[in-house]
Amino acid sequence: MIERIEEQRIMLANLKRLVKEKIAPAAAETDRSGEFNWEVVSHLWDLGALKIMLPPDHDGWPGNPSHTLCLCIEEVSKACASSALLLIIQAVGSYPLIFAGNEAQKGKYCPMISAERKLMGYLVTEPGAGSDVQAIQCTARRSGENFIINGRKAFATNGSVAGLYSVLTKTGQRELSFFIVERDWKGVSIGRIEDKCGFRGSNTAEVILEDVLVPSANLVSAQGHGFKIAMGDFDMSRPAVAALSLGLAEGALDYAIEYARNRHTFGKPLIQHQAIQFLLADASTSIEAGRGLMERAAIAFDSGERNTKLASMAKLFCSDTAMKVTTDMVQVLGGYGYIKDYPIERMFRDAKLTQIFEGANQIQRMIIGREMSKA
Ligand SMILES: Cc1cc2nc3c(=O)[nH]c(=O)nc-3n(C[C@H](O)[C@H](O)[C@H](O)COP(=O)(O)OP(=O)(O)OC[C@H]3O[C@@H](n4cnc5c(N)ncnc54)[C@H](O)[C@@H]3O)c2cc1C
Repeated sequence: MIERIEEQRIMLANLKRLVKEKIAPAAAETDRSGEFNWEVVSHLWDLGALKIMLPPDHDGWPGNPSHTLCLCIEEVSKACASSALLLIIQAVGSYPLIFAGNEAQKGKYCPMISAERKLMGYLVTEPGAGSDVQAIQCTARRSGENFIINGRKAFATNGSVAGLYSVLTKTGQRELSFFIVERDWKGVSIGRIEDKCGFRGSNTAEVILEDVLVPSANLVSAQGHGFKIAMGDFDMSRPAVAALSLGLAEGALDYAIEYARNRHTFGKPLIQHQAIQFLLADASTSIEAGRGLMERAAIAFDSGERNTKLASMAKLFCSDTAMKVTTDMVQVLGGYGYIKDYPIERMFRDAKLTQIFEGANQIQRMIIGREMSKA
């Protein structure tokens, strides 16, 4: 246990250095250009951060991967949320393989991720189905030893840069199933690349699947287990989105504190005005409260405890905190907070997504309520 804490500390120290030297300096330009930053991806591979959730015998993190992943995401997100999202989607996209895949699937695909450095995509959402996962229309039809997949997947993070996808399909009237699909298989193509308000350094694309022939060996778990796997994935991903949100809030707060020390109004530094101190105090308090929830949810996942309610609470509270804190920190900077030369403007735009994806916050409230109503 002590050894694990020490390894985690070393990982975070190395990551902190990478963020300071490479990720933070590139964040504003990545946001401005909207270009996918392969250099950052390469640094995150080198450090092992994109492999954390893999099984330990495939170079993954032993013992406490979810907690370690969350701490890494928080650290990166303080400087660049688009880069932090790389860590989340890598974990989310490989979850079906890692937690529900069989040994043959792991033996084939884990080395493709770990050694060949393939990025993952997670193809669940469709133009007509987001919150309501059961409403997806993408079909997988059995044809001898294969399945044939047809459908359009929307909003896929890493959609046009990933080498492997986890694809949720309909294999029956109310039966959903996951498949592992390789990007260069015939019939897989990229549609529109989304032009977004925030997370502009993250690739978000439509992925089109037209008569894609997929071996039945690529069906993850049993036919009809897809919905259960997707819900299990959320238990891992929602603490990670909470960590991303906290990083954004912390990045904005740290910048605003420094600014408020140096900016003077009415003969004293901004930070000496009580109204400004109250904004900073509320932000700091919410971040600390959110960290408690995020860490509890991630540690529960690592220990195999059912964490659905905690994971939703963490995602809900931390993303609302990110939106509130970044909005308030724009206010602390006044007009300068609204100008692109200052990172708060980017963080404010990035924060909004955290309330929408991995289950919008209305859905988190529904889940928390449903969990509470269970006997
Ligand atoms: C940048 C970005 C990246 C994304 N990455 C991925 C990805 O990698 N893979 C993937 O599969 N998806 C991805 N998504 C999709 C994302 O998860 C969905 O956008 C999200 O789940 C919401 O679905 P929707 O947009 O269809 O909204 P809808 O489901 O149409 O909902 C619209 C609004 O209504 C609310 N609402 C819906 N139903 C109810 C209800 N019953 N009661 C109360 N309110 C309700 C929602 O909370 C939301 O506010 C991404 C989205 C974005 C924007």
